[in-house]
Amino acid sequence: MSFPNQQGINEVKAFFANLSDAEVLMFCCNLNRDQYPNAPPLAACAVVVCLDTEGWDADSNALKEVGVNTFESRDMTANASPGPWGENILNKVYFYFARVQKHAHLRNKNFSAGHPDTNRFGLQRFLTDDEMVNFLTSAFEWPLDADAEDGRVCPVVLLGHALQNDVGKVEKLLGFTARNVVREVDTQAIARQVGHWNHPSNDIGLQRLVGNMGFAFRDPHTASNDAAYTTISAIQLIIDAAFKGTGHPRTLQSVIDNLERMSKYHVWSHGEEKYCFRCGHHGHCEHNGGPNGGRCLKRVYCDWCFEHHPKAHRGHRTAVCVMKAFESSNSSRPGRRHRKRGGPGVAGEGRNQGVQDATALVANDFPQLPPADGPSFNARKHPDVARTQLLKPAGQRLRGILPPVQPGRRQHPGFVPPPALPCLKAAGQTLQSGCPPTSAGAAFTLSKKVRPRRPRAGNVPGQAPRSAVGQPQRKRNNNNRRREHSNPFEDPVRLDRNNEG
Ligand SMILES: [Zn+2]
Ligand SMILES: [Zn+2]
Repeated sequence: MSFPNQQGINEVKAFFANLSDAEVLMFCCNLNRDQYPNAPPLAACAVVVCLDTEGWDADSNALKEVGVNTFESRDMTANASPGPWGENILNKVYFYFARVQKHAHLRNKNFSAGHPDTNRFGLQRFLTDDEMVNFLTSAFEWPLDADAEDGRVCPVVLLGHALQNDVGKVEKLLGFTARNVVREVDTQAIARQVGHWNHPSNDIGLQRLVGNMGFAFRDPHTASNDAAYTTISAIQLIIDAAFKGTGHPRTLQSVIDNLERMSKYHVWSHGEEKYCFRCGHHGHCEHNGGPNGGRCLKRVYCDWCFEHHPKAHRGHRTAVCVMKAFESSNSSRPGRRHRKRGGPGVAGEGRNQGVQDATALVANDFPQLPPADGPSFNARKHPDVARTQLLKPAGQRLRGILPPVQPGRRQHPGFVPPPALPCLKAAGQTLQSGCPPTSAGAAFTLSKKVRPRRPRAGNVPGQAPRSAVGQPQRKRNNNNRRREHSNPFEDPVRLDRNNEG
């Protein structure tokens, strides 16, 4: 299916085919249009769409986020100049941060560690797969005349950093194919074409590019932040050196900070603003859905984990079970690489509580030791295991051996109760034989025989201690003391005692 103005789109495509990536982007930003007087008129109506996607490290089939920045070449026509640091161009860029609802709980902690809550550019919304396709369709197929509704669309110049990955993901995982893209331009190619990067084999990475451009690479690996850094870097690469440098009253970073603030007003309507992947409800997020704005505390549990990892089945739903996702992923199961700190995890959980880390938790809860009732098990060697594995949930009857656990009291697997101290007594009670019942919350006193302290040798009550009157302190040990006071008539303490006696 083609558009009513498909012929014009094809003309633009043919025109851009003779230009380099940098020249195409400069044309869209109205930086070199006077060099191409014979350009097709539709070329000046091109829409630049910068696309970035984030997937889950553990499964290349799980798409988490799509970041889109877009601007229209027609808006740039009015620009007399790009302004310092390309500010006049950047201020006309729109930012959108779309999160795939069904994968909102997945988080990368290893190779591309990033947290969607640290998104800086644009407003985030949660979209189903169908809504995502609708959103991308509307982002790409801008009507040429918004009032006419005649089906004619603007040609699209697709911008990105290592773009093929992102295009491939969107096509494969969402089934979306942009039909009006007339040219793909990549910042890695632009960096070479403008002479910024000339390594023979390696292409420049986004982090290095951002650093070379001179602004902060803050909170990377969220789709919208990366897309924004791509757009900003691309514009820094193509604007003239006169618009960059130290001669301007504002720094590039302050321009970008302002851009971040303005992007928070780019309201859009696809999908939902809030979605709690924990309980699956719209209207709140997992971190503000609870009482007093705290974490969502709705009771949820996972059927799948109830069967496979019973100790980890609470706190998440089956639909967002990361353990189950691992099982069906095309990556290896959470082995040593994922189990260590920094592996892929689940968003919204605590630092060490990710259910992906549940592998480790489960492993801790079920130590790899011989079963307690097995023939080779030696309870004396593994007292903790004997105790742990015989613990039963509150209210259930225990078969033999140990007394039932007190209801409401859950003991840590390694917990060893302290021995009863017969000398403990409640305050105010008289000590009787055995251990008297103590009431909770009462202050305890430790009763023990108090021996009156003997005054230190040489320190006579009522007088200053020997060390305070300038005498050197001797090394105190029993031999010295015995030698010092070998004569009982020279020992003031003994003399005192003798006098008292
Ligand atoms: Zn919730
Ligand atoms: Zn689960």
